[in-house]
Amino acid sequence: MATGPVAAVDIGGTKIAVGLVASDGTLLATTRRPTPADADGETVLKALLDGLDELAGHPQWAGARAVGIGSAGPVDTAEGTVSPVNIPGWRGFPVVRRVAGHLGGRLPVVLTGDGIAIAAAEHRFGAARPYDNALCMVVSTGVGGGLVLGGALHSGRTGNAGHIGHISVDLNGELCPCGARGCLERLASGPAIARHALALGWRPGGADDSAAAVAVAARAGDAAALAAYDRAGQALAAGIAATATLVELDAVVIGGGVAQAGELLFSPLRRHLSTYAALPFTHHLAVHQAHLGPDAGLIGAAAAAMG
Ligand SMILES: [Zn+2]
Repeated sequence: MATGPVAAVDIGGTKIAVGLVASDGTLLATTRRPTPADADGETVLKALLDGLDELAGHPQWAGARAVGIGSAGPVDTAEGTVSPVNIPGWRGFPVVRRVAGHLGGRLPVVLTGDGIAIAAAEHRFGAARPYDNALCMVVSTGVGGGLVLGGALHSGRTGNAGHIGHISVDLNGELCPCGARGCLERLASGPAIARHALALGWRPGGADDSAAAVAVAARAGDAAALAAYDRAGQALAAGIAATATLVELDAVVIGGGVAQAGELLFSPLRRHLSTYAALPFTHHLAVHQAHLGPDAGLIGAAAAAMG
């Protein structure tokens, strides 16, 4: 079995990270560039290739056995193309073919959606390791996720399975940019928590009106701030319970900036889960905070390419 490192690329709306990941998940080297999100497609690609060229100077690059690319969605892993919502210059962009071509076709290139990449990272190296059936989520500016079913990543035909942020948990809720109504992301993301706290009367002490500032207020006993986290926990519980009921989950793993609030989020989440996950086969569902930090996307892109 191959044991060399895997080169990894994590494409997001604000940054493109490139790294070299050892087979035990250790990040050997990394470099980051701001995503030229408003530029044309070739300029965005150049930022990615510059990162790869920089990593090619690393002493362990020569042993690399694959390139794993994780990208903000939508992706089409069957076609090897990406169309990240926040990178308008890339619509159906053939990132797999272009990266493979840049490397002279010497390495296999594996494309994964960013939610599935997180699931790959947590399942291979993190909190989902003991489980064959897990939902791994990121709750931050958006809400994303990926599924492990029967011990394997479940990515779907085009690599977009696990988009839990865009299932409706509020039938007549507010419109979502995806076109649906009452999406989980509209209730549980960081911006949603901050918006809800403000609407309930929370007043930030300074200029910071982020979900992290709401968390500080909630810890000090602010009722509006507490209610905003409770609603986010309730929305997450509804989405998680629906998933557990459909596919029999063993565990859910939650990371991302909002999960940093810890029990402020997890405590209402567990409480509401006991209401929504009602059928007996969902009662044993374990809820964990993610083990991997901000590099989870990069490590997951590599993990998915490790096979
Ligand atoms: Zn949506």
